[in-house]
Amino acid sequence: MLPFIRSDLAKFSAYKPHPGSNTAEPVATQFDRLDTNESPYDLPIELKKKLAANYERIIETNRYPDGGHQNLKRAIAGYVNESVSLPPNTFSENNISVGNGSDELIRSILIATCLGEGSILVANPTFSMYGITAQTLGIPVIQVGRNQENFEIDLQAAQTAIEQNQNPPVRVVFVVHPNSPTANPLTETEINWLRKIPENILVVIDEAYFEFCQHSLVSELQNHSNWIVLRTFSKAFRLASMRVGYCVANPNLIAILEKVRLPYNLPSFSIAAALIAMENRHTLLETIPQTISERINFIETFSKNPELKIWQSSANFVFLKLQQDLLNPEQKGFVTLTQRLKDNGTLVRQISGGLRITIGTPEENIRTIERLKTVLNSLYPQVTA
Ligand SMILES: *Cc1c(COP(=O)(O)O)cnc(C)c1O
Repeated sequence: MLPFIRSDLAKFSAYKPHPGSNTAEPVATQFDRLDTNESPYDLPIELKKKLAANYERIIETNRYPDGGHQNLKRAIAGYVNESVSLPPNTFSENNISVGNGSDELIRSILIATCLGEGSILVANPTFSMYGITAQTLGIPVIQVGRNQENFEIDLQAAQTAIEQNQNPPVRVVFVVHPNSPTANPLTETEINWLRKIPENILVVIDEAYFEFCQHSLVSELQNHSNWIVLRTFSKAFRLASMRVGYCVANPNLIAILEKVRLPYNLPSFSIAAALIAMENRHTLLETIPQTISERINFIETFSKNPELKIWQSSANFVFLKLQQDLLNPEQKGFVTLTQRLKDNGTLVRQISGGLRITIGTPEENIRTIERLKTVLNSLYPQVTA
């Protein structure tokens, strides 16, 4: 260990983008890449051409990007209002901050709330970046569990955690709606609990998969000065490569996040891409109903399989476990399953004692279904899937 480095950092490992691929190289395109919940669709070529023309004629590569993001924020505010059928001027650019992916916003939120003073609360399994980013900042992470049948948050444990005057106190509660990796949306009971969280605790509602679920808590932001909604261009808007995320909150909170962010956090090219995505949002979102019907078909296909337990999903991915693993505390079956799927050309995410599989193109989904059936048959030859 380097002698000038904080001792707590020695314990952490760096984030692995494709943990199943065993390689530091970019993941080969011969795989069906169903392990990171991206859209299976690239930008349409007309929009890529628009972006290229923008690059040729408008972007000056020698100049710093627009560091104020006003145009992009205005476009995003318009989409946010539209997305929950609110009047056009309900949220404005003053309610929006943009980040280099929502990952940057998560870090800004942690810096603005907890650094040196507070801890965060998460309900596992959930998106790992909250905990990972908090730890890199020396912020304690308090973890509560979920019901193993329906993945509802253990609200009693969560309430105890925020009431205990532990040192340091909980300053932020992170929830995902719908959750990753388990794909379940917040229930009315959970939302009611969030509504009662005292105003000295920030509630972060991560709606990264909003477009696949169509239920949002954005309209309630006006009643809760301690709520913030995160969204991203990385999933439904097909721009994972561009690293653009945004948040919606009351202007006082936005002003603080603007103070802690780096001045030129978004490259000009990414700003241009996000603007094009907003202008063409209806075209880009046209693939969502297909993803949803593919998801329904996928779940239906395996719902009666005796070897699997597969859950309903409100996102662009599904979560499943092996029945055998549910009985076996070692839970090793899914490790084999992941490896065999990879050998057959499909990358999935092995996580929280199960598999998270992204819904891809119809062709990819046909292959995934076939491969999963084949692998299950070879693992459990006595059962016909
Ligand atoms: C994919 C994802 C994001 C998006 O992160 P970006 O940094 O915007 O790419 C955020 N939250 C959750 C829960 C996700 O799954």
